[in-house]
Amino acid sequence: MSVSELASAIVESPTLRLNEEARLLRERGEPVIHLGIGEPKNKTPIQAILSSAARLSQGDVKYCPSDGLPSLKKAIIRYTEEAYDKVVAPENVIVSSGAKQALFNILYTILNPQDEVVILAPYWVSYPEMVKMVYGVPVIVTPEDGSFHPRMADIERAVSSATKAIIVNSPNNPSGIVYTEEFIAQIVAFCERRKIYLIMDDIYHKLVFDGRVAPPCYRFTTKDIEDSRLIVVNGIAKLYGMTGFRIGWCVAPRKIVTIINNVQAQTTSCASPVMQAGAEGALLGLQSVVEALRLTIQNNRDIAMRELSSFNGVKTYKPDGTFYCLPDFRAYSSNSVDLSNFLLKKALVVTVPGREFGMEGHLRLSFAGTVKDVTEGIARIKWALDPTSPNDIYIGDKRLIRDWL
Ligand code: PMP
Repeated sequence: MSVSELASAIVESPTLRLNEEARLLRERGEPVIHLGIGEPKNKTPIQAILSSAARLSQGDVKYCPSDGLPSLKKAIIRYTEEAYDKVVAPENVIVSSGAKQALFNILYTILNPQDEVVILAPYWVSYPEMVKMVYGVPVIVTPEDGSFHPRMADIERAVSSATKAIIVNSPNNPSGIVYTEEFIAQIVAFCERRKIYLIMDDIYHKLVFDGRVAPPCYRFTTKDIEDSRLIVVNGIAKLYGMTGFRIGWCVAPRKIVTIINNVQAQTTSCASPVMQAGAEGALLGLQSVVEALRLTIQNNRDIAMRELSSFNGVKTYKPDGTFYCLPDFRAYSSNSVDLSNFLLKKALVVTVPGREFGMEGHLRLSFAGTVKDVTEGIARIKWALDPTSPNDIYIGDKRLIRDWL
């Protein structure tokens, strides 16, 4: 069967594949623990439910403006002002079906074939694939010092005359690191000087721990938004745990938003107004839900760190934000795909191989689930790998004996 070479070269989303594998195992009655998933367990905030339900019960679910419901855009403008101290116009905002679609539309809008996009490792799995989908070339920059923090000197070396954009995701999926203020200031100045778009994926920017703040790019520009190269992506998925609503947005210069709007109008018309109403409800509702979620996740982070610290040989960076950590498992295996498959088979724990994020030898563990998931999941990993741990364990009601170490 003849299919597009480009489309068939796009790799499957590893996280969605693992979700499906876990679902199938659970369906078979297997007591799987999912440390792969990037979504918290909280219920949808009530204001979001009521707002969506009200829209639905009017029975008026039709196409809406392709850049988003005006009332939601107003709420996003308010959010942008409150979160970033940045006043933007409705023409600077476009709502999409998730931050994922917002990012794809941005890349489609700014790239010509063969244009390069600098991506900082460890990176979110979808960036390189999205760049390839629009005939661009991903250029990966990996910190040479083995840390998770990019260095300006490495980025400058990777930038060429073909570089159109740099994608920055801080707090970072998968490492949980928050980039320093100094770095954000430097990269804003660099992009403005070199006329390169700086795409800030800020989807986790409120999910930070220990009183930290993720430094926003807007703080370091003196340019008017229309002359700047800054594009900021956000959404409700991580902020309110509303992953299934599929609402995200971007804030960008008008010229960019106008083109994204045409792209969106010709592809999806608009994001569902029922879900947009839910996003509006969440943004205008009680914001204590965000803080409650943040505290739950911070507590889970602490538990994950405590459990991981009992491992011989596993090195872990303590996350400053997000609900992921990326421990270094090279003491046990340098092949993260094999290790992840092994852990699923032997210990029924889902993890995501670091290779998918440009960090071989590591595993991404999510602590977005329950405390029980986090403690039991890490205990199972320890049992499967660490010869100093007891060699039997209960998984569900089965007592398993480790006979491979
Ligand atoms: N960016 C990053 C870094 C993410 O981790 C995710 C979700 N895993 C997204 C964007 C996509 O968010 P959404 O669900 O709003 O499409």
